[in-house]
Amino acid sequence: MEVSLNYDTCIASGNCGYIAPDIFQNLEEHEGFVSLRKEQPSKSEWPAVQRAGRLCPSGTIFLTGGGEGQDEEEEPDGKVERPRSRGSAS
Ligand code: SF4
Repeated sequence: MEVSLNYDTCIASGNCGYIAPDIFQNLEEHEGFVSLRKEQPSKSEWPAVQRAGRLCPSGTIFLTGGGEGQDEEEEPDGKVERPRSRGSAS
């Protein structure tokens, strides 16, 4: 898995640094805007990174690679939760 950010869209909510502090940080000296600590998280870190990506309110976090199902989570009822898409819903 590789993590990338669109720094232009971050609104400094702090969710990502709270959820996955080894990957993201929201430093006071950067006014809480996101910084990336690790571009390639270990497999054990993927769940937190995926959760941070889903809960980012501005769609700033992008996850690529990492194998099948990396960007999807199967719910117990068989539904698949897809990552947030960017842009307006239409
Ligand atoms: S969760 Fe999204 S909007 Fe909030 S600080 Fe992280 S990247 Fe920025």
